[in-house]
Amino acid sequence: MSKSWYPVINYELCVECGACVDKCGHGVYDKSKYPSPKIVNTDGCIQGCKGCGNLCPSGAIEYVGDVGEKSDCGCCCSGDDSGDCC
Ligand code: SF4
Ligand code: SF4
Repeated sequence: MSKSWYPVINYELCVECGACVDKCGHGVYDKSKYPSPKIVNTDGCIQGCKGCGNLCPSGAIEYVGDVGEKSDCGCCCSGDDSGDCC
């Protein structure tokens, strides 16, 4: 089964602040390219997580598989607090 949830960067909106790269602890972004968001491992993304998108100041991150439902992954990074699990 192919991955059904992962972030997609709109590079026309991205200001390369690095917040998304810094936030994700699941290996989705290539941290060696910080602050540029280069996605290298879509399989690492947690279903329903919007941890990186919630931090993006320019609305440049959308998710494949997102149909507008409330995030339900249960992962700390999808909440308003600044948990550090990803
Ligand atoms: S922070 Fe969450 S949504 Fe963003 S890439 Fe990492 S696991 Fe996926
Ligand atoms: S958080 Fe948004 S603006 Fe910042 S690097 Fe990521 S995609 Fe670009």
